[in-house]
Amino acid sequence: VQIRHRAGREIPAFMEISRKITFPRGIGLPGRVWTSGKPAWIADVTRDSNFPRAKYAEQDNLHGAFSFPIFNGREVIGVVEFFSHAIQQPDENLLRMMDTLGNLLGQFVARKRAEEEMVARATELSRSNAELERFAYIASHDLQEPLRTVTSFTQLLASRYEKAGDRDAEEFIGFITESVQRMRELIEGLLAYSRVSRGQEPLQDTDLNQIMQQVTANLGAAIHSNDASVTHDPLPVLRANPGLILHLLQNLVSNALKFRRAEPPRVHVSAEHAGPEWRIAVRDNGIGIEPHHAERIFVLFQRLHTRDQIPGNGLGLAICKKIVEQHGGRIWVEPGNPGSVFHFTLPA
Ligand code: ADP
Repeated sequence: VQIRHRAGREIPAFMEISRKITFPRGIGLPGRVWTSGKPAWIADVTRDSNFPRAKYAEQDNLHGAFSFPIFNGREVIGVVEFFSHAIQQPDENLLRMMDTLGNLLGQFVARKRAEEEMVARATELSRSNAELERFAYIASHDLQEPLRTVTSFTQLLASRYEKAGDRDAEEFIGFITESVQRMRELIEGLLAYSRVSRGQEPLQDTDLNQIMQQVTANLGAAIHSNDASVTHDPLPVLRANPGLILHLLQNLVSNALKFRRAEPPRVHVSAEHAGPEWRIAVRDNGIGIEPHHAERIFVLFQRLHTRDQIPGNGLGLAICKKIVEQHGGRIWVEPGNPGSVFHFTLPA
């Protein structure tokens, strides 16, 4: 209940009782409007048979009243009432206008409610995301410790059985070592993934040409052994996190080398200024990606090959996506001819 009165003429008794009282369906002016869903007009409330507050209205010299419902669809979600000191006869035009106003107010309230719900849901989503990230971080961090123990005891076992010359044991220990190594890689990947949004550093002017220089230096051995060429057009300088952008481009270029055809990989990075953003493209002449896998590959741990075919853990593109989204951009893949083109945008 909200009660307002026009300045200058106090109505203390009526205000107080209106605040205290609750109105069941059908009772009093609000209860009547609530039940009928129609505006109502009372010429003099002090003489009305269904107006429990009559005594208080009389004390404060209130007589005329009208009221209208506020609708959300078909449901009455509120009632507004007006009072005057004069005895007033019904005014049909005013009632009709108030009816319309009630509907408009209802739509407004419904929209406000929907907006509030949306904000609440978004808040909940980012909270549960943050929780998930914290979980991934803590889990991967804590898992490293027992893994180190397993590693050192396996080494101990290995040296014993080597001396004993037990072939089976050596083979089994080999399997353990391999699995531990794989687990370490997965944990490191998960840590890298959860670190993307931890400790957000301020954005800096980031020269993508310099980043590409670093990428080709870091991937020098792979570029050489694949007999690959990695080239780029003049690239922009952007406000970004240079460490993350290096990670992003290095992941994309390294995938382009890894998922190659028989002919030597050719990777080319280009940039296009499109409105408020830069669109960067990493094009390769590799094995390509079927369009129906185009979304799946950006999901954590999703791969299109087994590890026997091509090594990897399915984290690279998930990390790329997180980095790009962290910067307010989008990432997607399109078929090249041949190969594929990975596009991502960054705010200009
Ligand atoms: P990983 O490289 O460890 O498998 P990614 O998340 O980097 O994980 O990639 C997911 C999958 O997307 C890969 O397994 C591969 O099937 C596909 N993919 C990624 N980059 C390319 C590319 N340049 N050409 C063809 N397929 C690719």
